[in-house]
Amino acid sequence: MFSFWRKRTKADGAPTASDHRSSVRLSVVGCGDAFGAGGRLQTCFHVSAGDTQFLIDCGATALIGLQRMGLSPNDVDTIVLSHLHGDHYSGLIWWIMHGQYVSQRTSALTVIGPEGTKERYLATAELMFPGSTSVDPPFDVNFEVYNEYEVTEGLGFSVKPFPVSHPSGAMSSAL
Ligand SMILES: [Zn+2]
Repeated sequence: MFSFWRKRTKADGAPTASDHRSSVRLSVVGCGDAFGAGGRLQTCFHVSAGDTQFLIDCGATALIGLQRMGLSPNDVDTIVLSHLHGDHYSGLIWWIMHGQYVSQRTSALTVIGPEGTKERYLATAELMFPGSTSVDPPFDVNFEVYNEYEVTEGLGFSVKPFPVSHPSGAMSSAL
């Protein structure tokens, strides 16, 4: 786990509201390749910034890694996907089912990715757990599409995709 926070000292005094708003914490949940090289799991970064928490990518091992780190999946508001290879998005299948059947999630989840993200999620979920997509979770799952070079705001952070050459059946991006 990495943190951009400088360790506070007594000279800093008590944290203020502005300290809280300006702090960003990055936790590397997974940074291995598609095969979890070195036991580092598949790609998933957890960011806590002010009042929001979000993921950058959600590989198949995301939920396992997050729970190992003591982070709550229910506190994640948004999942941003760089592209639609399985080691970057397929964790959505377990993530949404976990919210539905285990953690009793009630707050909305936003998933933002390239055109085709929702369709890829639905197809994968049906292959892995037939019939699963016909049962609506008790929380809203909002799929949003980003477009190359366009900034998406209103998530508690902003995201801008830069297209890269990495064929995945949809636009692949550096974010
Ligand atoms: Zn890839």
